Amino acid sequence: MVRAIVVGAAGRMGATVMRAIRETDGIEIAGAVERPDHPFLNRDVGEVSGLGEIGIPLVGDIEGAIKAGDVVIDFTNAEVSLRNLEVCSARGVAAIIGSTGFTPQQMERVAHLAKKMRCVLSPNMSVGVNVMFKVVGEIARILGDEYDVEILEAHHRFKKDSPSGTAMKLGEIAASALKRDFHQVGVFGRKGVIGERKSKEIGMQAVRAGDIVGEHTVIFGGLGERVEVTHRSHSRDNFARGAIRAAKWVITQPNGLYDMGDVLGLK
Ligand code: NAD
Repeated sequence: MVRAIVVGAAGRMGATVMRAIRETDGIEIAGAVERPDHPFLNRDVGEVSGLGEIGIPLVGDIEGAIKAGDVVIDFTNAEVSLRNLEVCSARGVAAIIGSTGFTPQQMERVAHLAKKMRCVLSPNMSVGVNVMFKVVGEIARILGDEYDVEILEAHHRFKKDSPSGTAMKLGEIAASALKRDFHQVGVFGRKGVIGERKSKEIGMQAVRAGDIVGEHTVIFGGLGERVEVTHRSHSRDNFARGAIRAAKWVITQPNGLYDMGDVLGLK
């Protein structure tokens, strides 16, 4: 039985992860952590997340909770997750990080910490999206420079970072397949008389509206045709189930930094 500590437990993803853990064999909730000033601290986390009483209090400190777990599943934000990784690394506890918005400097620190622990970090834990990561690289390689790459993403009105981590990863994958530096060719939104599109740019557009769970489209636009690859999430369940699959997988792996491609054997 894998013992999971859910961090950000009262959040949208945290609550979904807890519900999905309860429906999955071989894994159990061993702790639940929220920010130290959360109004529901010390209440039964099952009641907070709509599961009914499960006998586990919501606590405001990962240090205490981590002792009971084999793996931390953290959907909070990049800054908080990085702090939590410091704790996991010091204790040798595995971590599944779903938070998005890590800067390149933060990612360097994550890679350093993962030398002493097992960590899966993926801006999108969905199985379908990870298959999309794989095919987008292959399509970009085959179509080459003749096709314009544009990436569209749409999310709910509450999302705080933009573009989504998944859209950024799709841009990086396409750029790398086309031997470009995404940081140089990424164009984030367009306005005004900006002139013709440069052939090597990779356009990034973000929509925020209502309760859209998450949609990503990569357009490869040629002359006379275009190829589009789209993934739509119908609910948050797919991310939660991917994170649980990662948690069960990672505890059998050596120390290191992994992503969902590793978990799913797509590499
Ligand atoms: P949310 O705001 O609903 O939940 C975040 C939770 O983290 C909140 O309950 C907040 O109180 C808690 N939190 C903040 N500081 C904390 C701290 N110091 N310790 C413990 N908990 C703390 O947001 P959400 O929609 O659940 O998304 C959370 C993160 O997961 C975001 O970065 C989002 O982009 C990402 N996300 C990733 C995937 C994926 O597949 N990787 C899928 C969906 C969302």
